[in-house]
Amino acid sequence: MKTHYKIAVLPGDGIGKEVIPEGLRVVKAAAQRFGIALELVEFDWASCDYYAQTGSMMPDNWKELLLPMDAIYFGAVGWPAIVADHISLWGSLLKFRREFDQYINLRPAQTFAGVRSPLAGRTAGDIDMLIVRENTEGEYSSVGGIMYEGTENEVVMQQSIFSRRGTERVMKFAFELAKTRARKHVTVATKSNGISISMPWWDARASEVASAYPDISWDKQHIDILCARFVLSPERFDVVVASNLFGDILSDLGPACTGTIGLAPSANLNPERRFPSLFEPVHGSAPDIYGKNIANPVAAIWSGAMMLDFLTNSKGAGHEAHDAILAAIKAVLISGPHTPDLGGKASTTDVGKAIAERLLASN
Ligand code: ATP
Ligand code: MG
Repeated sequence: MKTHYKIAVLPGDGIGKEVIPEGLRVVKAAAQRFGIALELVEFDWASCDYYAQTGSMMPDNWKELLLPMDAIYFGAVGWPAIVADHISLWGSLLKFRREFDQYINLRPAQTFAGVRSPLAGRTAGDIDMLIVRENTEGEYSSVGGIMYEGTENEVVMQQSIFSRRGTERVMKFAFELAKTRARKHVTVATKSNGISISMPWWDARASEVASAYPDISWDKQHIDILCARFVLSPERFDVVVASNLFGDILSDLGPACTGTIGLAPSANLNPERRFPSLFEPVHGSAPDIYGKNIANPVAAIWSGAMMLDFLTNSKGAGHEAHDAILAAIKAVLISGPHTPDLGGKASTTDVGKAIAERLLASN
């Protein structure tokens, strides 16, 4: 068992540069308390500032630099005033996801005491789900093209690609995850009534994998009614597994139902650990609030907790560190300080410090 972990820190752009230092403050405090040895290596690339200086988002040897790392702790990328979003995204984050085979995008969504859910009457503990998004294939392929461009016969086509290996592994991940949960239920997002080839095939893979997990209950729901139920009865969901596109939509909708986007964390995982996994807040670089020290750092801090948990395979010190960070987050969400998105007046730094103090005080 490993006892020393190397972490690449990539704050990126905008509020990524404000929330990651607070995440590090809390991760370092937890590492100290639980005796986890971390080596943090910070890089200023995977950012639009780097692009402005060099004409690319990352150095040519980025892969060499990141491969020896146990994890990547990422802020946000995007500064449309300098670089178009599709260039900054495909030049950094999407390269990591694909080239490091981070085929799971895991996004928890939970309601907390002290944070008002936009759904009437929902309070702490009512919503507690894990969204598992397939992160490397599906609808987000670049296979396709435009024919007869500019004529009245113009046609555009873009393929969805589902591999047996890619689909089975994401289903297995979801069912394994459900084993660790109290409710032990998997919901499979589909659209096999309308998408007549790939989605019935996707359902069949779900059914095959499910048959190996007799203790896990499961159902499949069409994406349209599933979105409606996220809003109408979110408490019914436990683990939700979805294709790349459907998962993208659900993993914004789920956290939105719990309060502010400033709370939502995510993990881009290569579960076999052949490549480093990446942990990042769901939110983006938020140019509208950058530079004011008012961004909510909780999403970044919670992502850091998920990183510690993953590093130790959800066992021992890393798992305890994760739970202690989450407990400190919950306490501060109740007592404050709160950033303006939660109705408070506190700064990013105030909240980071309060969570770190709470973590060490509960020792
Ligand atoms: P992406 O880079 O994922 O496309 P985006 O451009 O869609 O992101 P964000 O950068 O996440 O959007 O910002 C969306 C809105 O949410 C903005 O008004 C922003 O100020 C707000 N927001 C995002 N993150 C936070 C945060 N951590 N704290 C407070 N407000 C936030
Ligand atoms: Mg953005």
